[in-house]
Amino acid sequence: MATIKLEIVSPDKVVYSEDVSMVIVRSTGGELGILPHHAPLVTGLVPHAMRVRVSGSDRDEQLIAVAGGFMEVTPEKITVLATAAEQPIDIDINRAQKAYARAKERIDAFHQGTPDAKDIDVERAQLALRRAIARLDATETEWDR
Ligand code: ATP
Repeated sequence: MATIKLEIVSPDKVVYSEDVSMVIVRSTGGELGILPHHAPLVTGLVPHAMRVRVSGSDRDEQLIAVAGGFMEVTPEKITVLATAAEQPIDIDINRAQKAYARAKERIDAFHQGTPDAKDIDVERAQLALRRAIARLDATETEWDR
């Protein structure tokens, strides 16, 4: 089975470094599936749960939360430079649920035009919401969206 080296790096550590058979990411241009020997590519990543296959099967897919950043692909290596990234075991689900609720409350207040709506940075809240969703998706948490 052909494999390719995947390295996911956050500002403070190497989050993941393994030989993998396929990676599925959400780039700024849409979803991308990367196989070994892929053509060289550089793209931005949006907050999401990356899917990593270590063997040929989708049954053993691993999920990794990525808050955003860049991905560089060469035929031999995939490098993800993430603003933050976590493996499911390192994700604090309670913290992610709180971040989700906080962001949702801000977005709702902005749209309802509450008295302090003018002070709400709605784009920032939307990004925070997407980071929280990425973390909850990576841990396969069922929650009230
Ligand atoms: P919060 O509002 O809870 O801080 P955030 O989305 O603003 O969430 P980030 O700025 O993306 O947080 O990340 C800051 C640091 O905290 C990073 O090192 C990231 O890995 C870590 N982090 C954020 N949320 C979680 C979580 N739910 N579980 C584990 N680590 C987390």
